[in-house]
Amino acid sequence: MRRLRNVKVVATLGPASETYEMIRALHEAGADVFRLNMSHGTHDEIRSKHQIIRQVEQDLNSPIAILADLQGPKLRVGAFANGEELLEEGARFRLDLDEAEGDVTRVCLPHPEIFAALKPGAHLLVNDGKIRLKVDSYGKDFAECTVITGGVISNRKGVNVPDVVLPLAALSAKDRKDLEFACELGVDWLALSFVQRPRDVEEARELARGRAAILSKIEKPAAVDNFDAILAVSDGIMVARGDLGVELPVQAVPPIQKRLTRKCRNAAKPVIVATQMLESMIESPMPTRAEVSDVATAIYEGVDAVMLSAESAAGSYPVEAVTTMDKVAVEVEADENYMQIIAASRGERKYGVAEGIVAAAREIAETTNIKAICCFTQSGTTGLLTARERPRVPILALTSLERTARRLCLSWGCNCVIVGELERFKMAVVSAARAARAGGFAVETDQIVVMAGVPFNVPGTTNILRVAPCDERLIYNTDPG
Ligand code: PGA
Ligand code: MN
Repeated sequence: MRRLRNVKVVATLGPASETYEMIRALHEAGADVFRLNMSHGTHDEIRSKHQIIRQVEQDLNSPIAILADLQGPKLRVGAFANGEELLEEGARFRLDLDEAEGDVTRVCLPHPEIFAALKPGAHLLVNDGKIRLKVDSYGKDFAECTVITGGVISNRKGVNVPDVVLPLAALSAKDRKDLEFACELGVDWLALSFVQRPRDVEEARELARGRAAILSKIEKPAAVDNFDAILAVSDGIMVARGDLGVELPVQAVPPIQKRLTRKCRNAAKPVIVATQMLESMIESPMPTRAEVSDVATAIYEGVDAVMLSAESAAGSYPVEAVTTMDKVAVEVEADENYMQIIAASRGERKYGVAEGIVAAAREIAETTNIKAICCFTQSGTTGLLTARERPRVPILALTSLERTARRLCLSWGCNCVIVGELERFKMAVVSAARAARAGGFAVETDQIVVMAGVPFNVPGTTNILRVAPCDERLIYNTDPG
């Protein structure tokens, strides 16, 4: 699907978006990537959504990325005899390993690792941080707490422990099963929740065995502290503002969002900004001004993608939410300030042939009237490097590999096209010109930039840049080789 914007839209699927008609409508409205949340739904339900997405992809001849989001070590309290209790500020409350149902004085927290890792004075946050407990004393199977902020606590509410690096495996037994299931289905990206250290990412990568790219969700203070090392071993990043805003003071989130966005761009790895972007659209067909501003801010910062969670998964207006993101992106990107900000935040380039060639392509786009930058990319690296340049004209990422086309759907500006295998550079130019014309990016009288690596099919060899006509007779007449 040709978009009139560069930033990508990720839409989470759920009960509000599980039919063929709805998923197709979301893609047509602007969703480039679909997120399947492994925390909800059975494997059969996930499989059905996956099949529908692949059907839409085939029917519209438009590569789509599928991201499976693993639940990760989400901590939860046990159940209460009354289903829920009201905890009063200043009261004492005990967490322990006793599986008996809880009451107003105690509840089970079935995670011995937490008790082992606690520190006196540590805070435990329950129910998205609405209830705050301070640890007064603890042993290997209990913690005695004071209620700092009270509220209603109920069955199986989530618990965050921001002050402590938990010795938890990033992948639970359920995650391992879900990971294998998702890889067998053929998803393109795996998102890891509550990553704390680079080792967590490496563990998932070993299990995925190249079948899916790995995206780390940054939602723990430890992940922010270890960010550079985590980025180095990840293929992409999600600024998971929901949990991050619970684990850290909310006001810490915007500067972290900015910093992580820049680092990801410098590393040429896609970054998604997620959660509560258009929250009010779960129930309303219109977003608030503040939400529109939030989406716009992320786009001005240069993110690769913005994400919808409950808005598209469980809300009443999934298509309207996608359309809103699309419209905001089109408006921001048309603003002359946008390209100035994007240019000003372009970091130092590493030395290399491919880096030089993609920078040259971007400069040619600034000084001439070329209509598209076409890059041949098999591993996806040249596509990622081109996206990092954030050029002023559309990027066509051309590849013979379906999985590369799909993965690049998450990256800024990449219009992904699957082409036949190539033997000669001249054929690459012809194929790029055809793709540019077919996609409505250029007409016969236009010029494009074509980048490729010769010999073909050796990764990391981008070594040719040509400014080429889109008219096939001219390509043959003027081609040097
Ligand atoms: P979640 O992750 O929706 O899986 O919790 C995103 C976030 O925490 O922001
Ligand atoms: Mn989260």
